[in-house]
Amino acid sequence: MEYTGTDLNYLHVCPRKLWLFRHGIRQERENDLVQLGVLLGEQSFSREKKEIAIGEAGVLDWADFKDGVIHETKHGKAPGEGDEAQVRYYLFYLNMHGIRANRAVIHYPKKRETTTVEWNENSFRQVEEDLQACKTVLAGPIPAATRRPYCRHCAYEEMCFI
Ligand code: SF4
Repeated sequence: MEYTGTDLNYLHVCPRKLWLFRHGIRQERENDLVQLGVLLGEQSFSREKKEIAIGEAGVLDWADFKDGVIHETKHGKAPGEGDEAQVRYYLFYLNMHGIRANRAVIHYPKKRETTTVEWNENSFRQVEEDLQACKTVLAGPIPAATRRPYCRHCAYEEMCFI
């Protein structure tokens, strides 16, 4: 099974969200949020922005391959583990395909913050663990709905709790 950066992001946000998304159960709002992220990325970094598709893994917002740096823009207000897992997978995918990528910078325009994720042996192991965890979640039954702070921002909230 091919995985995407979004899959690894959802794994860390909520395994149930990953399961619903990968089983084709998608709320329109989920698409709206993705579109919002695209629009925000375009507005915030229109000069540098140059999207680069990387196979099934996803789309880089822009990259400087001379320095081995990739960039991702997030519309969320707070840095999170899911965002880091997503770009770590992009670094994994590129390096596994012979393209040097040393680090990823995640931009949070709303907070005017950035987070940097380095590519190293530990990152490699983390991605391998994440891929195994995705496989385990998707092979099983739907995970139980467990209330967490993120739920109020999640497109699946009504489906989970009403
Ligand atoms: S509403 Fe909460 S429990 Fe349901 S999928 Fe979203 S994050 Fe997970």
